[in-house]
Order: sequence, then structure tokens, then C-alpha cells
Amino acid sequence: MNETEQRICGCIDAHAQQLIAFAEDIYSHAELGYTEHRTAGKVADWLQSCGMDVQTGLANTGVKASLGSAAPSVCLIGELDGIRSPEHPLAVPKTGMSHACGHHMQLTALAGAALALSQPEVAAALTGRAVFFAVPCEEHVPMNRLEQLRSSGIATCCGGKPELLLRGAFDDIDAAITTHAHMVPCQSDFLLGCNSTSGFLSKLIHIKGRASHTAIAPENGINALDVVTLARSAIGMLRSTFRDQDCIRIGEIVRMGDCAINVVPHEVTVDLQVRAKTWDALQTVNEQINRAYRGAAYAFGAEISIQDDMGYLPTIPAQPCQALTDAAKLLPATYEPVNPSVHNAASTDVGDLSHRMPIVNFTYGGFSGTLHGADFRITDKEKAYLYPAKLAALTLYHLLCDHAAQAQALLSDFHPAMTAEEYRAYAHKFGCQ
Ligand SMILES: [Zn+2]
Repeated sequence: MNETEQRICGCIDAHAQQLIAFAEDIYSHAELGYTEHRTAGKVADWLQSCGMDVQTGLANTGVKASLGSAAPSVCLIGELDGIRSPEHPLAVPKTGMSHACGHHMQLTALAGAALALSQPEVAAALTGRAVFFAVPCEEHVPMNRLEQLRSSGIATCCGGKPELLLRGAFDDIDAAITTHAHMVPCQSDFLLGCNSTSGFLSKLIHIKGRASHTAIAPENGINALDVVTLARSAIGMLRSTFRDQDCIRIGEIVRMGDCAINVVPHEVTVDLQVRAKTWDALQTVNEQINRAYRGAAYAFGAEISIQDDMGYLPTIPAQPCQALTDAAKLLPATYEPVNPSVHNAASTDVGDLSHRMPIVNFTYGGFSGTLHGADFRITDKEKAYLYPAKLAALTLYHLLCDHAAQAQALLSDFHPAMTAEEYRAYAHKFGCQ
């Protein structure tokens, strides 16, 4: 390690107890996406105490601060939101929100990196801008809540990063470092690089039949629930046409209004989410599902409306860049690069960001149980909180030291899959502004 690298790690070690206290405070006060006001306040206070000017309220709760003012500009992202998991022992009793996805670990990495890099001797070694960006709402918002957010002017997208992209909050950023608790099985302390993840589309299907007495006049009724049954049968048969490599997943929730057993069910709403490994496969299957529902409604003479909504784009996979690997080598931790043949069938709004800028991603251990599960536990505070802070700080330093040579190399190798205009046009199609 050179002197600056030692200074970075030494600072994080010297503030270990403060960082762990910061992590544990956020861990036990999880908040819902776009309403992470307490968490955002803690992050803003921390960044301010590092001597940085802090912007707040980005897409409602986002917090951004930076060191330096020149190009290139590399941000380190931390996600602010929790996940509803009422059975988790640290869930907030009133809301059922928990940090069973480990986003508090990301915020701790961000806090530690901000502290380490804002030391004057370290900041002076950087060319360009190191940005610390805590972003709202990674766990997507279901469509019924999204309607409320839209009507109250809080957000138009189901995820924080798409919302921030549309609002121009990433316009001054050239590349992003993202981190997460391990999302695919990994025995090493760190997994370096970015696995592909599935994209998804959401839809709200509203079926309106006709109420009638089930015994006296069933012939006058149109059973909306039967429409769903027929559509689901068709989708079940369509499954045999799905290609294995497209990793199609379909999730559905059927919701009914108040109904009585002796009235033909006349109104049903279906929340549906379709996931696929590629955008093309997503569109193809989405259209198949729409046809199945429309065809079933036609068969029964029911009215149907289908509202498709923007979800998250698939994540474009990436091998670890040189700066990330160089940084990992400095730590007494085990690491491995992502296996390009491993696909993560879950979705993240990092997918949207990966279409616009290079993503330097790593994931980490230090926990047991399953993400989003009631059994998620932190088992090793050093590996969960301090190692990620060190790796994030060292990676930012390696990207921006030596006249930002590594960052420039990363940027010159990158060709965005979508321009800002193309992304905006794609989002506008779904009513996202
Ligand atoms: Zn997560």
C-alpha cells in the first residue's frame, strides 16, 4: 500500500466504532422507498460533517455531495430504502420495514468512503470529482402506490434511479460505483463486477364483467374471475414456448372487491410482473400475456383494460475494471470476479443506469440468511461494514488518482446502450416524466 492507501484504510479503522453505530442505527430504522427522510437526514449529516456541501431532496429523498469540481465525475451509490419484511426481528413494528436487503451496508460503505476520501491529503491526490450519492427507492413501487406518488407529485417511476435519470440528477456523473450484499451465491468476501440481472415490466389489468344472481339468473352474469382463470390457463400453456435462456418469470396477484358468494364476481384487478433476461424477450412475452388476457376477456364478453408500466431494464453485465481489482488486492479479504455465465433472475434499477454509464460493481458477505427474508442477519461486522467501505474508497481513489487515468480508460471503453434522449423517450411511453 502506498501512503494514501494506508491513510484511507487507517481512517476507516480509526472510525470503525462510529461507522458500525451508523450502520446499526440505519439497520433498525428502515423506511419505505421515496419516504426515507430519517435515513436521508443521517446520511446528509454525515456528509456535511465530512466538510462537503450537501444537496438533499433529489427525487424526494436523494442526497448528493462531492469532493473536487473537475471532470471526470465518478459517483459512489448507496441505496436508502428498506424492504417490507414484518417478520424480520429488526423490522420497524409500525410499518414492517426492515433492511433485509442490506442497503444499510451500502450506506455505511458510502459513509466510510466519504470520510476517508475527504481527508485533505487524500482529496488532494484525486483528479476530477468523487460524488457520494444516496438514492431513494431501489425496491420497486407497486402500481397501486405508484398512482398515489404520481398524483401527489412525488415520483413518476417505480424506482429511484430511473426517476433521478429523468430528472437529470445523473447528468453530471460519468460513471457509477454500485455495491450490494451478495446477490448470487459466493464464498469469497467480495464478488467483483456485475452479473446480468433480469429486467421487468409491471401491468395492472382491470376486468369488468357483469353482476347477477348466481342461482336465479347466472345467464345474465359475466364472471370476471373466469376471465382470469382462462387467461392464466393460456399463459400456463405459453410457458412451454418460453426459451430457457430468457429466464422468464411471471408473478401475479389477483385482487377482488367486496363480493358475495351468491353474486357472479364482476370486477377483478390483476397486478402482474413479467421478468426476462433481455429487453426483446420481455417485450415478446409481455405481448403474449396481453393477448392471453384480451382473448379471455373477448371469450366471455367482459371489458378489459391493461396498463403497462415501466419497470427496470436488464443489467448489462461487466467484468471488474482494473481499478476495482487493484483495490481488492490491497485488502486482507478474499475476492473473485463474477462468473459471466451466472445470471441473476432478480431485478434492480442499476439495470437502467447500466444503459447510460459504466457501472463498477462489487458485492460482499458478512451476513447469513436470504435477501428480503426474515432470516437475514449480519454475522461479521468487519466484512459487512468496514471491508465494503475500504473497497469503495480504494476503488474511487484508484479511478481518480494519477490524473484519473483509470477512470478515463473506463469511459473510453464504454458505449452507452441508450442515449439520454432514447432513455427519456422509452420512459415517456410509460407515462414516466
Ligand atoms: Zn437490494
